[in-house]
Amino acid sequence: MALVKSQPEIETMARAGAILRTVLDTLKAEIRPGLSLLELDKRARQLIEAAGGKPAFLGYKPSGATRPYPATLCTSVNNVVVHGIPTSYALRAGDIVSIDCGVKINGWYSDAAFTVAVGEVSPQLKKLISVTEEALQRGIDAAQHGNTVGDIGNAVGSFIKKQGLYVVKGLTGHGIGTNLHEEPSIFNEGKPGTGPKLVPGMVIAIEPMVAIGTNEIVQLADESYGTKDGSIAAHFEKTIAITKEGPRILT
Ligand code: MG
Ligand code: MG
Repeated sequence: MALVKSQPEIETMARAGAILRTVLDTLKAEIRPGLSLLELDKRARQLIEAAGGKPAFLGYKPSGATRPYPATLCTSVNNVVVHGIPTSYALRAGDIVSIDCGVKINGWYSDAAFTVAVGEVSPQLKKLISVTEEALQRGIDAAQHGNTVGDIGNAVGSFIKKQGLYVVKGLTGHGIGTNLHEEPSIFNEGKPGTGPKLVPGMVIAIEPMVAIGTNEIVQLADESYGTKDGSIAAHFEKTIAITKEGPRILT
């Protein structure tokens, strides 16, 4: 059963989400060749704390993880899909990087991600990024009161496949609230009208993960997930609330 949030709870999540949106916009504008992932991570933490939020990923230990997460951001470069741990790697022109971040206020979470080109990238990578972003928008548009989780998955997945790209298997979006990951799982594929119903007060993170050459992933040495064939992947995510008036984007 989906956890339904009260209006004041959703407003607290919206405050966390507003900080997160500003932080991600700032990072996106600052990403350039030569900037290291650790510098980006440090910047993110400073921005979040200056705004009165808490980095939600830092110290987070989901069940099954061998250690608490050591950073503010997940920074996933090129073939890495999600959960890349920031290192001293300096971004290079031609890379793409996915930045995933969460902000917490009074115990309430927000979660969002984007992928951006570093310097000039190939037309193929530009298409990958724009298709993944558009897939997120289509998922949000399907997140209507009375629809189901399957309607979101269908909207996201059918668009990606029509563009000749792959929906990464084994990773999903999720409900979110006083935990970073709550029920239900928000799949990036699905059949219309199937799965849990979307009702006002539900808050979910929709997050398409798209690869150029395969839908299969492998776990890498730092416990991040990469594409099995080494092809490039992108990731966009927003936290949204289901309302009677339609989806409300909180990040
Ligand atoms: Mg995320
Ligand atoms: Mg998420």
